Amino acid sequence: MMLNGEKKMQRPLRWAMVGGGRLSQVGYKHRTGALRDNTAFQLIAGAFDIDSERGKDFGINLGLDEERCYANYQTMFAEEAKRGDGIEVVSIATPNGTHFEICKAALNADLHVICEKPLFFTSEEGREIKALAEKKEKIVGVTYGFSGNHMLLQMRAMVEKGDLGDIRVVDLQYTHGFCAIDEGEKASDSQKWRVDPAIAGPSFVLGDLSTHTYYMSQLIMPHMKIKELLCDRQSFVGSRAPLEDNAHVLMHYENGAVGTMWTSSINSGCMDGHRIRIVGSKASIEWWDSNPDEITYEVQGKPIQTLVRGMPYLDEQCNADERLGVLHLEGLSDAWANIYLKFAIAIDAKNRGNEETLQNLIYPDIDAGLEGIRWIENCVRSAENGSVWVDFV
Ligand code: NAD
Repeated sequence: MMLNGEKKMQRPLRWAMVGGGRLSQVGYKHRTGALRDNTAFQLIAGAFDIDSERGKDFGINLGLDEERCYANYQTMFAEEAKRGDGIEVVSIATPNGTHFEICKAALNADLHVICEKPLFFTSEEGREIKALAEKKEKIVGVTYGFSGNHMLLQMRAMVEKGDLGDIRVVDLQYTHGFCAIDEGEKASDSQKWRVDPAIAGPSFVLGDLSTHTYYMSQLIMPHMKIKELLCDRQSFVGSRAPLEDNAHVLMHYENGAVGTMWTSSINSGCMDGHRIRIVGSKASIEWWDSNPDEITYEVQGKPIQTLVRGMPYLDEQCNADERLGVLHLEGLSDAWANIYLKFAIAIDAKNRGNEETLQNLIYPDIDAGLEGIRWIENCVRSAENGSVWVDFV
């Protein structure tokens, strides 16, 4: 049965945001996702901006009570904890270098957390937060927003059923051209921090872009583990060094398959550079973000087929996240709504101690966030050692 907004839990979760303010790139994606089903989340507080006055004004314009638009996250966590109707879950949509401390503070304030990618800078930080979340019995979800495109679940089902045969080649790409030109001082604030290692972490495009596509490939092929990889990265705009604006990664999987990832912000003129192609011994499947409602299914020796979202021939799990009905295009906002609904279901299940629901729910959890950090760490280690093969540790 398709999604229709009916409630999946007794009442919506009391939700707040840190970051995602007026000028942010990603804030509205969170709100459009979380608030799509008004039975899942209710936005009641926020510390939306590093500029506290602008953040408060923004919150008021979103319709929040003035007293719940806070100057900073520390005050928000402290004040909300005093209320009987205080927040239960917070989304963190701030630049990368702040995720760890805000996430830790949120868990220590007994909140569930939904955090942006790349989750943290190091696996060590990831393990610390995972242990804290376990101790506090809280969910940490990661907003790999594209992964809510449910045609990816169709690809997962086809891989699992063996429609492709043995997987031989994994061809991944997430590229755009918006940084092809060096804008220097004229670059937006959102762009400037992305090439500052103190705020962005050890990578630019590997973390900013390819973590999404890597997670999506794992969603489609959970059994495929990388054995070793080689990463070659460049800063075509020299001032971005040591952070890369372009990278190629070669992968060897444990089962003998091979893979590539091209991630780039200097793919000049590219408006359509996010795709996943899986090649098996019998057939291939391919998905493009620019046309997320369809996948192509190419069986060797047969005419190419296009599988279309919402059609009854698709897998049950894929159609369970269907919202609008076939013929009506879905897209990124629907994908975000799907993952936010799953975060809500996970949080509700955690609150009720329903381990069975948690075991069966497919969503980007803390382990998906940790795997993204691990991907970046291994790519950077390979590149820094002269673009050599390294074991995926
Ligand atoms: P941005 O620079 O455009 O916006 C950051 C926002 O956070 C601003 O509103 C800023 O005022 C606020 N902020 C910064 N520090 C803060 C603090 N300490 N307290 C409260 N607010 C604070 O950045 P962005 O492009 O929106 O990226 C934010 C995060 O989201 C990054 O981790 C980025 O990697 C991620 N991101 C994810 C996606 C996705 O598809 N999931 C897309 C874009 C960005």
